Amino acid sequence: MTTHDSTPISVTLLGTGTPQPDIERFGPATLIQAAGLNLLFDAGRGASLRLTQVGCRLGAIDAVFLTHFHSDHTAGLPDVYASGYIPGPFGKRQKALTVYGPEGIEEFTEGLMLAFRGDMRERAIKSISPDATKLEPREVAEGIVYEQAGVTVTAFGTYHHDFARTYGYRIDYAGYSVVLSGDTAADPRVIDAAVGCDLLIHEVAAIDGSMSDNVFFRDVVMRGHTSPEEAAHVFEAVQPKLAVFTHIVQLPGGHVGPSVQSILDRTSAIYGGSVIAGRDLMILEVGSEGVFASDAKQRLSVTSEEEEPI
Ligand SMILES: [Zn+2]
Ligand SMILES: [Zn+2]
Repeated sequence: MTTHDSTPISVTLLGTGTPQPDIERFGPATLIQAAGLNLLFDAGRGASLRLTQVGCRLGAIDAVFLTHFHSDHTAGLPDVYASGYIPGPFGKRQKALTVYGPEGIEEFTEGLMLAFRGDMRERAIKSISPDATKLEPREVAEGIVYEQAGVTVTAFGTYHHDFARTYGYRIDYAGYSVVLSGDTAADPRVIDAAVGCDLLIHEVAAIDGSMSDNVFFRDVVMRGHTSPEEAAHVFEAVQPKLAVFTHIVQLPGGHVGPSVQSILDRTSAIYGGSVIAGRDLMILEVGSEGVFASDAKQRLSVTSEEEEPI
């Protein structure tokens, strides 16, 4: 899958879920493609499967950006990393994989490499370059953290429980911009980073009405997340061309929380702009005509019909 000239930035929602295992919503992971680069933001459960579904070779990921170290955002990274250096058609990474993240990223990447030391040893065959088995940590702070081929990634702080450091990311290319909130309560820093952006991808969390007095959900979980109404006020301040919900927390979970439609309705009762709920494998194309959502599965099936059978 490549970006087209008419689509300067292509965003694929690989996983729109939460820590709750869900076959419909894999762990948080977003692929952003611009200027021929494949940038992966968070790598939740199943990221390698979703990358394969959209035709992105695991070894073709140019850099990974972690918003924070909650396991739902990192559980898929070991697979992207270690399957990415296997010389099969799905891997073939030739160089170290750079992983950007908050303070602690060095410890995180060292631990991961340690865990896979046996794998590297067993696969010690000539076709794998030693560099390909490495992770290269890059600690981020607020400000520009990545500049390559005209693509700029800027990190901004967010508030997520009492987590010491959590970040959202803004991606700029060719005059277009995409902002990922990461996990956060409604935070003016998200607004500052996102104001006037083309596409704002924001987390959301809602409690079923019958559970609204649950102290843990209300005072602990919701303290670090954004309600549908709070999201509406963020969107009003930002005025993105399109707002998309991801990391959709439906408390109490287990498929008995508020419906996605009810979450959208609560936001739309306050915010009059365009807002949709993200789905796994949704593609968001950002360009001069605006932002358009489509389904990767449909697009892939069209492509396969057009191509000659191999
Ligand atoms: Zn989190
Ligand atoms: Zn999370």
